[in-house]
Amino acid sequence: MADNNSVGWELLSILLPLFREQFIENQPRGTNEMEIECNDSTSTDSPRLIIRGYDGQIKGNLPPSPKLNRLRELSRSTGGPLERLDLMDVGLQCSECSNPITDRFGASSTSDLICWDCVDSNLAESDARGVTSTIDPTKAVLSSSALHHKNLCNYVINVATGCTHGCKFCYVPSTPNIKMRKDMLNEQVDVEDGQSEWGSYLLYRDDLPERLNRKLERKRTWDATPDGRGVVMISSGTDCYQDRRTAQITRGCVIELIKHKKPVRILTRSPAVVRDLDVFKSANGLVTVGSSIPSLDDNLVRSIEPGAPAPTTRLNALEKISNAGVPVYVSMSPTYPTQSRDDLRRLLKEFKTRLDPDVVFHEPINPRGGNFGMTVQAARDAGQIELANELEKLQDRDNWVEYSKNQLMTVRELGNELDVPIHLWPDKEFIKYAGEHKEFFKHEREKDDSPEDYPQPVPPA
Ligand code: SF4
Ligand SMILES: [Zn+2]
Repeated sequence: MADNNSVGWELLSILLPLFREQFIENQPRGTNEMEIECNDSTSTDSPRLIIRGYDGQIKGNLPPSPKLNRLRELSRSTGGPLERLDLMDVGLQCSECSNPITDRFGASSTSDLICWDCVDSNLAESDARGVTSTIDPTKAVLSSSALHHKNLCNYVINVATGCTHGCKFCYVPSTPNIKMRKDMLNEQVDVEDGQSEWGSYLLYRDDLPERLNRKLERKRTWDATPDGRGVVMISSGTDCYQDRRTAQITRGCVIELIKHKKPVRILTRSPAVVRDLDVFKSANGLVTVGSSIPSLDDNLVRSIEPGAPAPTTRLNALEKISNAGVPVYVSMSPTYPTQSRDDLRRLLKEFKTRLDPDVVFHEPINPRGGNFGMTVQAARDAGQIELANELEKLQDRDNWVEYSKNQLMTVRELGNELDVPIHLWPDKEFIKYAGEHKEFFKHEREKDDSPEDYPQPVPPA
């Protein structure tokens, strides 16, 4: 039989954890980060994850293995623009083996969290578009880049391998990044030929923001050449806003770079980039946003960029970003041999009046790489016969050189006429055959005085 004292203790032992939980939940933390804590004080069978905002208030109360997209969305919708929930080693559990996620992780096609030990047993899934996707096993986080030669950056971050936009002329599948990873692509997404199947596979780097954070914390040196200026470009080998999952990874990476005071260049064909306008506005000029817009003829562009959103929607998105005071640029590439001087003038005028971009990079289409035949065929299949015929002619070297020279010169002249800062990207191979204009194009390619006004990166402490 229990006496009064033992009843009192029993009651206290029930109430104390409840009070404690209430107390913990209501305590403002005063930190300036969002964070997750695993609150298992009342029951080890059903621990809960408490999400706190930088103001210390509770923003969410979740089971220990919530969906990854829910966590990323919670981070976006409840935090400040530069807040980010870091998901590594905070008490999250693997949906497969229930072990805590202490290091790398990914997500299944239904967004269930998966620890790195269970990644191999996660099977690739195909969607209604015929795109097969899974988790990318690559270790790459922040890679040094030769794109400083194009005045773009010193570093690149790619949030995925593959790109569902599947542009027919895309040079990425002919780079070592795809060619040298033949076995991995075959094993992970059953791809036989990374080039001809380009557009039909996508491997996500879900934990990239977490790994980037740790990499930047450790990094003691930072490259900043005069032509690359320490900029990090997202992305050069995929489209960083092609779907919600890549957009969530991109947002986390941009926030990490801004927090570490690194200049960022976004390049995308997706209007979904506007979803991160709050982040760009908070970056104090550290972020510039650009889109590839070769023409505003949606049907023409769609014929060889079959999976990408229409270029008119890209322009609308960039206009919103520009109107918000964020620096923007245009990659007017690759332009087509069917575009006349008047077409190009109209396009540049549109950029000038609607965007007032810091710079317009220009590159004519190049008939090099294993996929040019596919580009011609895609235009023909889409009924763009004139485009297909003109592209076909570029397979003759003299035609290609003549076309490139004329279009590059025309864009340069129109830039002067319309007061649009132009940066030409003549192809390296083309320069060899540019005759009397060789030195001019060489200078255009190699110059390091881009009109973009970038803040310098802050060197690591
Ligand atoms: S959006 Fe860029 S990376 Fe993607 S397929 Fe097109 S050119 Fe290639
Ligand atoms: Zn696991």
